[in-house]
Amino acid sequence: GELDRSARILVAGSGGLVGSAVVRALRGAGFTDVVGARSAQVDLRDASAAREFVAGVDPVAVVDAAARVGGIAANAARPVEFLHDNLRIQANLLDAAAGAGAGRFLFLGSSCIYPKFAEQPIREDSLLTGPLEATNDAYAVAKIAGIMGVQSYRREYGLPWVSAMPTNLYGPGDNFDLESSHVLPALMRKFHEATVRGDARVTVWGTGTPRREFLHVDDLAAACVHLLDVYDDPSPINVGTGEDVTIAELAALVARTVGFTGEIVYDTSRPDGTPRKVLDVSRITATGWKPRIGLAEGLASTYRWYLDNYVSGE
Ligand code: GDP
Repeated sequence: GELDRSARILVAGSGGLVGSAVVRALRGAGFTDVVGARSAQVDLRDASAAREFVAGVDPVAVVDAAARVGGIAANAARPVEFLHDNLRIQANLLDAAAGAGAGRFLFLGSSCIYPKFAEQPIREDSLLTGPLEATNDAYAVAKIAGIMGVQSYRREYGLPWVSAMPTNLYGPGDNFDLESSHVLPALMRKFHEATVRGDARVTVWGTGTPRREFLHVDDLAAACVHLLDVYDDPSPINVGTGEDVTIAELAALVARTVGFTGEIVYDTSRPDGTPRKVLDVSRITATGWKPRIGLAEGLASTYRWYLDNYVSGE
């Protein structure tokens, strides 16, 4: 049934793109006792620090938006950290939540957990049916272990804990660092800076042909609130739009948003990653949630956020 709006909810990773949006969405949905945990407050890689922090908060429900995340280059450069930091963060948080008696737990994964050549759109039951994409397999294996952590707590302790798998996310609070970010914020910054400098061309990595699905983080956050209320199943549930664009189409959309009129060139020495990644969202759609923010609208508001908070804050 629906979670009590006065119940204390802990959002781990509340300083990040996802966690900050989940805090906003919970408060917007009437939750009056939302507690955040930022990495600067508590290092969830440390088991005793995690246990002490969560015991002190004593939450009724935990949303796990704490993770080491990054784009294709960051994942390739730092597989050890993407594997071990995420394994530690999620195991510590699951154990700490159980220790504190949290009745609900929502673990957030990623669409990269699915096999590289999974049938598209990707259904939840394609998990563990084939090899992973090599550019982010360490991160994917960690997130798969997190799903198993939730399933294990369900099996062994009968807890109604769940996992959701969001597609590629973007929005206010994103990481705009060109080496470690995902494609959408990277392109926004590249096109912005090229426009400001008057550059004739912008370089996009890879061939431009891979297909990706993009979900505004406020839509994901609304889905998280909804799932805390209604979802109770061992299977992870996909959260996305069910629609994808090529990287070349995305680049053209971002260029239009920013007002860049120069040329777009492709650096094919950079990896494409997985050829296509679009989620089958029929399962979450059947529970009554759907995305509300279209890509053009989401790009425009994210660009305003970037101008107000990132460019002026540099
Ligand atoms: P992925 O979805 O895990 O592959 O992660 P990314 O969001 O980092 O990359 C998605 C796709 O966009 C890949 O094919 C990248 O090669 C491509 N891409 C094009 N330009 C860029 C860029 O400037 N930064 C990033 N991160 N990716 C880019």
